[in-house]
Amino acid sequence: MKTQRGVATPVIILALVAALVLVFGLLVMEKSRNFDLNSDFNAAQGPQSPDTRETFEWRMVTSWPKNFPGIGMGPENFATLVDRMSDGRLHIQVYGAGELVPALGVFDAVSSGAVEIGHTGAYYNKGKIPAAPFFTAVPFGMNAQELHAWLQYGGGMALWREIYEPFNIIPFPGGNTGVQMGGWFNKEINSLDDLRGLKMRLPGMAGEVLQRAGGTAVNIAGGELYTSMQTGVIDATEWVGPYNDRSFGLHEVGQYYYYPGWHEAGSMLEFEINLDAWNSLPADLQAIVEGASQAINEDMLDEYTAQNAFVLQDLIAEGTDIRPFPAEVLAALEEISIAYYEEESEKDETFAEVYDQYWSFYEKVQAWHAISELPLYLNRQ
Ligand code: CA
Repeated sequence: MKTQRGVATPVIILALVAALVLVFGLLVMEKSRNFDLNSDFNAAQGPQSPDTRETFEWRMVTSWPKNFPGIGMGPENFATLVDRMSDGRLHIQVYGAGELVPALGVFDAVSSGAVEIGHTGAYYNKGKIPAAPFFTAVPFGMNAQELHAWLQYGGGMALWREIYEPFNIIPFPGGNTGVQMGGWFNKEINSLDDLRGLKMRLPGMAGEVLQRAGGTAVNIAGGELYTSMQTGVIDATEWVGPYNDRSFGLHEVGQYYYYPGWHEAGSMLEFEINLDAWNSLPADLQAIVEGASQAINEDMLDEYTAQNAFVLQDLIAEGTDIRPFPAEVLAALEEISIAYYEEESEKDETFAEVYDQYWSFYEKVQAWHAISELPLYLNRQ
């Protein structure tokens, strides 16, 4: 009995285990059949599958000559990246300035829905949105690293989207030139007095600042800068930095190359997308657009940093007279700039809101950089 029970018990246990395995196996098969059925159902009727095969053809207008180095290649690289990431499901045709709309007609074309997407600089939208320049660059404002940090982690992006929403546009970062040069001058700048009567190509808020310092600011398209300097129509001009300036030949018509670019410490460009076009995209294509914008924003900054470094060596080898602005001139221009922001804040509520948020972040990030980036820069060989 003892022996029989001793044999019978393992047999019963084995039988029970076998039964459990069978039942479990059947359950798993049933479950996976249900899963397959559900998958087929999703493939046939769910919200994901047919939509993920839908293709979109977009047109992108830009403010730059087709394939212009740096800023003009940003939108081309973006379109290529989106095309590859989406396996051709979102195809974007890029147009240079003047091909579909004029250089400064990008915002209107996107807002009206005439095209789905544009690439430009927010400061060109100043006429419609006085606070827009804070999302490109403002005199004595944040550099690229700081501006990107404000956008991504300091509340800047939400603010940017909020002020563009009434125009049926959602903005995305579109590349950054990094800190620009002060510009090419045919007069020496030794004191603030030397700015009086100076006729300079200097667009946007910086132009307003120069006017208040006694100069005359004019806005001339990039392609006309060489002739304007050569014929003496203007005494000075800024453009971008060594990379783009030398390709325009500005080193041949400007005697002194001043730094730093107090007016553009890190100019960020923007992709503008029509909100209806944006909302028509499935979630995965939206994620691809967002990711590609981030990638291009960083890539363009890397390109400018490297190319400016390379071309600076050419300018030095050619004997370019490269000079710093006197500290007292920069201090005076900064004081004028801040007074200007205070005045604009009185006139426009949105300007005041953006200026307050921007400057509040700027003060904090400056305190951090005063004990991080700055001493590192000053103390390295
Ligand atoms: Ca510039």
